[in-house]
Amino acid sequence: MRSSSLTRTLLPLAAVLAGLLVLASAAMAALGDRTLRQGMSGDDVMQLQRLVTELGYPTSRTGTFTSRTKSDMLNYERTTGLRVNGEIGPSEGRTIVRRAQERRDRMNGGPSTRSYDFGERTLSEGLRGGDVLTLQRLVTRLGYPTPRYGMFTSRTKRDMIRYERTTGLRANGVVSLTEQSVIARRAGHGQSSRDHVFPIRGSHSYGGSGSRFGAPRSGHSHGGQDMSAASGTPLVAVTNGRVSQVRYQAGGGGYYVVIQGDDRYDYVYMHMRESASSWVKPGQRVRVGQQIGRVGSTGSSTGPHLHFEMWTAHWFDGGHRIDPLSALKRWDAYS
Ligand SMILES: [Zn+2]
Repeated sequence: MRSSSLTRTLLPLAAVLAGLLVLASAAMAALGDRTLRQGMSGDDVMQLQRLVTELGYPTSRTGTFTSRTKSDMLNYERTTGLRVNGEIGPSEGRTIVRRAQERRDRMNGGPSTRSYDFGERTLSEGLRGGDVLTLQRLVTRLGYPTPRYGMFTSRTKRDMIRYERTTGLRANGVVSLTEQSVIARRAGHGQSSRDHVFPIRGSHSYGGSGSRFGAPRSGHSHGGQDMSAASGTPLVAVTNGRVSQVRYQAGGGGYYVVIQGDDRYDYVYMHMRESASSWVKPGQRVRVGQQIGRVGSTGSSTGPHLHFEMWTAHWFDGGHRIDPLSALKRWDAYS
């Protein structure tokens, strides 16, 4: 019969074509199109490896889902609250794409994505940020494991209610400032693990209105906050960052240093007793709390004090000064 011989010819051809289509679509697949598991390879596997690495969980980017990839995926799933099976299904794939996109948005973000310190705002469902991540880490460390991803999800809320109920806090899934300080204390979240610390390691005074940001000076307004302290009191980096300037200005700031914070602010310390070069070099990384100099009275100064400025990125390079007082008070409260 003619039609059956045609069928005999066409069916295998269709199977071959379908096979080619599968091959082609595997090569061009995007993450989220299919379930990825050990033994597979393709653009989507490469995309998965690249994005998970970008999200801070480095894995080798070969385009092949090896046993090493599987163990890295298990770790990623476990840590970030996905189903822990070492396979990346379509919805997990789309979640990873979205997380990477959100991370890029945060990196390029403006004021709406400013970072908050733990203890700076009330935390509740829908928020995200480093402070949410800190909360999740601390509560996990206290023996109440919860996914650590930096997003306050419904799962986070459920876990927080359980933690609050079990440990005698108000069980509403909203973590107030008071609760955050309780949690920080319980977890021994001290200076070394804080995002920011106060710049002066010793007793100090904020002075009066003349010390404030914006106070009138001859011909300009005061660009920072002055804080008096005994000469020689250690000065420390307020956050992790990089030393961008180590300078001297005879008629102005005296010995001064500029730190580019990883939080995307620049911090300026002036009138230091001697050059910061005794402690740090330009370009060097500094960690939060690391000594960078001492309080002094060099340059245009009437007594030992720290003149402290806070800039949006960067100092005399596209940025501008902002009033540092509320940040200083916050850091001071924890030191
Ligand atoms: Zn000043």
